Amino acid sequence: MRHGSPWTYRNHGCRCESCKTAWSDYNRARRARRIAEGPNPQRHGMPSSYINHGCRCDECTAAIQNYRRQYRTRRKQEANRARRKVSS
Ligand SMILES: [Zn+2]
Ligand SMILES: [Zn+2]
Repeated sequence: MRHGSPWTYRNHGCRCESCKTAWSDYNRARRARRIAEGPNPQRHGMPSSYINHGCRCDECTAAIQNYRRQYRTRRKQEANRARRKVSS
């Protein structure tokens, strides 16, 4: 098997330096290509279409705002719970 290709990293699970470099180069290229192609999500109105596909349409923007709001609320609730546990 030849080292320094993304396939040895992915298919053979090799984590040597040259395979790791090849893998990260491969992913960077893939991400760059996706950005160059522009937003093309399978579905709109999902946080993943905003994050992964970079779609900024109204539906996807609303979805990510909603998602972030829920995340913040959950964090706050957890913090409150933790505080209560400490004080009692
Ligand atoms: Zn390797
Ligand atoms: Zn969208």
